[in-house]
Amino acid sequence: MTATELGSTTAPSHGVWADVVGQDAAVAQFRRAASPQGSLAQAWLVTGPPGSGRSTAARAFAATLQCEEGTGCGHCRACRTTLAGTHPDVTVVATDKLSIAKEEVRALVMTAQRSPATGRHRVVIVEDADRMTAGTFNVLLKSIEEPPPSTVWMLCAPSAEDLAPTIRSRCRLVTLSVPSSEVVAELLRRRDGIDQSLAVRAARAAQGHIGLALRYATQEGALAAREESARTLLSLRGAGQAVLAAQALVDRATAEAKEHADLVAAEEKERFLHSAGIEDGRSRPRCAHRCVSSRRMPSVARRDWSATCWTATCWMRTRCCAMC
Ligand SMILES: [Zn+2]
Repeated sequence: MTATELGSTTAPSHGVWADVVGQDAAVAQFRRAASPQGSLAQAWLVTGPPGSGRSTAARAFAATLQCEEGTGCGHCRACRTTLAGTHPDVTVVATDKLSIAKEEVRALVMTAQRSPATGRHRVVIVEDADRMTAGTFNVLLKSIEEPPPSTVWMLCAPSAEDLAPTIRSRCRLVTLSVPSSEVVAELLRRRDGIDQSLAVRAARAAQGHIGLALRYATQEGALAAREESARTLLSLRGAGQAVLAAQALVDRATAEAKEHADLVAAEEKERFLHSAGIEDGRSRPRCAHRCVSSRRMPSVARRDWSATCWTATCWMRTRCCAMC
């Protein structure tokens, strides 16, 4: 029985499941599977409309599987690192491209073959698994069919029909429903600290799409533009007005797409600079451990400096250690 058939309305607001709102039946299904008495399938297909929280649910399930207490407590190291995307045994694939390349899936299959490094399971989550092509499904099929005992695959897609029958027949299906405006508003208020009335307006405008609701609540002008569009559409009185309104919508969508692309590019740049140890636009810092000068140090000291270097935030890490 799917989550939709079981029905769900309220939010389980604790542990790693706190942000999976309006999906009680799906959460119960995941929890049963992760419990010691449950039967854990090694391939899952999480379906649901855009914005319903597919990837959030998949990450929460991965955290529950890795949890040191076995419950998805939300506060142990395994739970925190899984939700933050830094757990070494949880791989998440998300793409902005139209399709997921065969080479990417081959690399994933190789990852799935490895034993977990620290956790109990190796979990591979593929967001937008519907972007795999028919040829790519074939690469995945063998691994889904006979994965190593500790590996769990989680595929996310809008509907089961978006995946090849050979893949979906080997997965256990969990179907998410559209969360109600009330639970989305409550999530925005609790998780993001959004004002109650704004959260309610944003959730209603987004019609159950959690990411969109957050954007309406936090991005200046987004909610007003959405409401203006709705008013315009309701006031249409003829074909001429419809054409003008359609052009205005296209222009707005183009501007929003550009704004989003700029935002993503800025975030990528910030991540890159941060990984290189450069903050706030300042110039590249010197190595904090002055490894280059260690060439003049005795061999024992050089080894110590080298070890320090690998654990420090040091943009010259590789080069320094090679020289040490
Ligand atoms: Zn935990």
